[in-house]
Amino acid sequence: MDVRMRKQTILQWLKSGQSEFTAMAKHIWENPQVAYEETYASELQSLKLKEEGFRIQPSIGGMSTAFVAEYGYGKPIIGILGEYDALPGLSQVVKPVQEQVEKNGPGHGCGHNLLGTAGVEAVVALKKVMEEYNLSGTIRYYGCPAEEVLSGKTFMAREGVFDDLDCALTWHPWTSNMVLNMSMQAIVSIRFHFEGIPAHAASAPHAGRSALDAVELMNVGTNFLREHLLDGSRIHYVITNGGLAPNIVPEHASVWYYLRAATKEQVEDILGRVEKIAQGAALMTETEVRSEIDAFAYDTLPNDVLNDLMFENMKLANPLEYTVEEENFARELVKTVDTTIVKSAQRLTDELLPTNYQNDKLTKGKVLTGSTDVGDVSWITPVGSIMATCAPVGIQLHTWQATASFGSSIGFKGMHFAAQTMALSAFDLLLNKNQVLDRAKEEFRSSTREKPYVVGIPENVQPSPVKK
Ligand SMILES: [Zn+2]
Repeated sequence: MDVRMRKQTILQWLKSGQSEFTAMAKHIWENPQVAYEETYASELQSLKLKEEGFRIQPSIGGMSTAFVAEYGYGKPIIGILGEYDALPGLSQVVKPVQEQVEKNGPGHGCGHNLLGTAGVEAVVALKKVMEEYNLSGTIRYYGCPAEEVLSGKTFMAREGVFDDLDCALTWHPWTSNMVLNMSMQAIVSIRFHFEGIPAHAASAPHAGRSALDAVELMNVGTNFLREHLLDGSRIHYVITNGGLAPNIVPEHASVWYYLRAATKEQVEDILGRVEKIAQGAALMTETEVRSEIDAFAYDTLPNDVLNDLMFENMKLANPLEYTVEEENFARELVKTVDTTIVKSAQRLTDELLPTNYQNDKLTKGKVLTGSTDVGDVSWITPVGSIMATCAPVGIQLHTWQATASFGSSIGFKGMHFAAQTMALSAFDLLLNKNQVLDRAKEEFRSSTREKPYVVGIPENVQPSPVKK
């Protein structure tokens, strides 16, 4: 068969169906829900896929908003990973000035309204491809909740839903079109709860043992630890309970930590040291401490074969073009951002809304300081990943500016571009064109030979909404 011509046909199908998926992404953007509460997006997407004839496996790993939609039979099994959770406090209208839709409400500042919808768009096209061209194999869409708390995919992985995949593809909204050759950091999310003895803080302080003192001493200890960590490691914390009133010696106090490093092993090492610091703080203050881990995500393992395949297909996707209104919107939005951030981002490109494609091999082996639960999947099966322009250069994820852009036509254009790239790449993988799938799997086997996937979260930990 003439693969190139068929790809043109696939792009035609995708183009003719775009308006429906623009509407889906817009509706999810208008109904933002935070981690574990994404009922709107998960129902909208699973219903659409059910109507299209996909078999739906609902509620995975104890999460009612997780699902898998599957079409076809037998090998190969190609997965597309989607996400749809929003972030707290990032409510924003589609305007280049800060203005909330709902006071302190959630918003799609990471563009997961686009991320998941592009996956649905791609698998619906792939279903048509498989029917028309009589292709064997299975295509799956993974509706993954709670990426923003870095745990949805870990709980899904614990259920084994990625185990029989031959590979998976994903993407993320960004400010350029590029293959993600860099990896992202492993992370553990852990809460320390100290228990002391309450007392009147003025009349009988000697009878009290302050849980808040323990939290503060623990934080001093971890701040001294920073000097002795590998470059790039990150420790950040918030005190989630510091007591009730100054005149009561705090009986309970809690602190929530994120620990990040380039590999899961390095995170485990930092975790062991931070746990010792917590015990030291408890010893100093005659309090007791217990801890709970609520997320533990691997670093991401890029797959060169899949990334190169996605890069070739990016070049075939319909090129990005912007209207004067979109260019103006981008220019106004960037004016609201810290100039040092914008200047450093703009060093790489002249365009405010990049339309070109990058596959920068020099970035291979470099580590981005952020994290994602895609990391877990990437140690179970080969994962290919791209970024697509959905916001102007200089805009940071997790900001109101990002929310504005991801609800605009700029965001929707990047989403369609990503859907096209993933659909064309999955088509090549179903055909195993030039043994591309075999080569991706061989690369994966050799990279993971020494390091089989082991779920990071302890067995007793269950998914639950973020505690306030
Ligand atoms: Zn994200």
